[in-house]
Amino acid sequence: MSRPDTGHPPGIGLFGGTFDPVHFGHLRAALEARELLKLDDFRLLPAGTPPHRAPPVASAEHRLAMLRLAVAGHPGISVDDRETRRSGYSYMVDTLAEIRQESGDAPLMLLLGQDAANALDTWHEWKTIFQLAHLVVMRRPESVVSWTGELLQRVRPRLVERPEQLGEKPAGYVLPLEVTQLAISSTGIRDRLLAGQSPCFLLPDTVVDYIAQNRLYFAGAAGKG
Ligand code: ATP
Repeated sequence: MSRPDTGHPPGIGLFGGTFDPVHFGHLRAALEARELLKLDDFRLLPAGTPPHRAPPVASAEHRLAMLRLAVAGHPGISVDDRETRRSGYSYMVDTLAEIRQESGDAPLMLLLGQDAANALDTWHEWKTIFQLAHLVVMRRPESVVSWTGELLQRVRPRLVERPEQLGEKPAGYVLPLEVTQLAISSTGIRDRLLAGQSPCFLLPDTVVDYIAQNRLYFAGAAGKG
């Protein structure tokens, strides 16, 4: 992918989540962000034990397997399993610090849906995140921008409009990014499965098959984590 020479190593896109299960909302957003940000290295980062929400329903192994099936055939998008290998809570700040160590001064671009970005100030050591990565915030149906208080104070002076600006430094900007909005959520998919309804066309067929084969998300399902 051609990109302007900024003097920094190429950027790395990081898209964290529980992916319980991964769906087309995640995947379409990842693909479009990778293209708009001109990234050769774009990683989906499934959380092991997320600190600010209920534990995932499916085990880390199942969520990883579904992600790998979903991105098979898309060489620019990979799955980074480091959080699932770590014991204890998956703090994004620790993950970013580790990736920063490995990647020198490459711009790190942390992707978040607007719903997650609104709650950034509930994250462990959230202010440090601005020193480690840029934030790329994607609109999501039914979520509005609601940054308030200290979070708004931190975000406002960092807002930029053009993706190329993220190449200028390793971390610290906030870029709102328009991607196709798909009103799909993992909760909605799990609810459908529990109700005995089909989740087809909300996530890849390979993942639908995996869910069925492993009887995930059904009442009394095997494979709960
Ligand atoms: P759940 O319903 O279990 O909360 P989810 O569908 O919100 O799951 P997560 O794995 O929690 O998915 O989300 C990971 C990241 O992906 C978050 O930053 C979230 O905002 C973003 N995201 C999830 N679904 C979409 C979507 N349809 N469009 C854009 N971003 C999304």
